[in-house]
Amino acid sequence: MTRTILMKYGELILKGANKRSFEKLLCDKIKARMRRLMGDAFQFECMQSTLYVTPDDDTMVEEAYEQLKKVFGIVSLCISYRAEKNMEDIVKVACEHIPEHIRPYHSFKVDARRSDKQFPLTSPQIMAEVGGELSELCPEVKVDVVNPEIVVRVEIREKYAYIHAGSEHGAGGMPYLSNGRGLLLLSGGIDSPVAGYMMAKRGVEIDAVHFESFPYTSERAKEKVIALAKCLCAYTDKIRIHFVSLTEIQEAIRDNSEEDYFTLILRRFMMPLAERVAKKCGAQALITGESIGQVASQTMAAIAVTDCTATIPVFRPCIGMDKEEIVEISRKIDTFETSILPYEDCCTVFTPRHPRTKPILEKVIRAEAKLDREALMDRAMEGMTELIVEI
Ligand code: ATP
Ligand code: MG
Repeated sequence: MTRTILMKYGELILKGANKRSFEKLLCDKIKARMRRLMGDAFQFECMQSTLYVTPDDDTMVEEAYEQLKKVFGIVSLCISYRAEKNMEDIVKVACEHIPEHIRPYHSFKVDARRSDKQFPLTSPQIMAEVGGELSELCPEVKVDVVNPEIVVRVEIREKYAYIHAGSEHGAGGMPYLSNGRGLLLLSGGIDSPVAGYMMAKRGVEIDAVHFESFPYTSERAKEKVIALAKCLCAYTDKIRIHFVSLTEIQEAIRDNSEEDYFTLILRRFMMPLAERVAKKCGAQALITGESIGQVASQTMAAIAVTDCTATIPVFRPCIGMDKEEIVEISRKIDTFETSILPYEDCCTVFTPRHPRTKPILEKVIRAEAKLDREALMDRAMEGMTELIVEI
């Protein structure tokens, strides 16, 4: 038995002249993933908007399939059985492997498609022949051409015929690396890993910055952030995390400014610091997990007061989402269980008892007046460290 994973890509088709470069990124990504899994022991092809991966060792198919489900740019995929391009072999392969796939259902139909128009039988003839053989083998599953519970597909392609039953949605989006680089402000919370995933899905390469505040935040909080980045690597393969300490800045804020404004002033350091990191690592935008109205620092007025400290675009893909919707994605991408571990974040150190929800920019600027912002930021940047996390 030879099984091939068939993958279709979607939006790429719309990209006109860019299609080739998008396609290349996608193919490179798939090949790199497969190589990591099984060296060179697989065949790869890209033809007519379909991608094919055939592991030499058939026992690797399921694992390869799981990995390919997390490649952005693939809209649907399935495991197919490969047959020679003659009816005898097609029927033989279908009868050997397809019954187990259709038996759990009440009805099925066979659909056939010939990209190779030289094939001697027409599509309806292929459907009739394969359908007839299968219903003899599985008389309990009715043929229903209008509304079948499962569709068996026979695809006559350039070199082989492929038979499969039931394809699944792929990760969707656009190929990773196809849309510039963004710097994700990665906290240990639920929202920011989701924000990173959403931008990565649109093809944006992700670098991350994490602000720590040792000894107010712990080594375990840092480990948690590394674990979260590792979860995202299931999609991105690797992520570079930049660590910047806010300890001195937070102590300076605590000692010199009005308590109600602590968090806002802190965030007015975080954004320009992140921008400095972005410049260093070649990122063109910042990404945060903010969601409008979620906490005091994420009201419209508060975001306005912090947003103006960045001069590059700030993307907030969670901005219009409810917490529940964000949680649903975090479960899907496996970050949720790590995100809810109860370690502190720099934003929860020295939190004001009554944070401002309707801050006025002039007052915030006055409240931070005693701080030498530039010198504090220079020193924070000097202590920056880096770590590359990989899948
Ligand atoms: P999250 O679940 O992502 O932590 P949150 O609801 O806890 O979000 P805040 O703590 O107000 O919200 O942070 C808002 C955003 O600021 C986060 O989504 C993240 O992008 C960024 N952020 C917060 N803390 C840090 C940190 N320690 N390092 C880097 N970015 C941070
Ligand atoms: Mg947080």
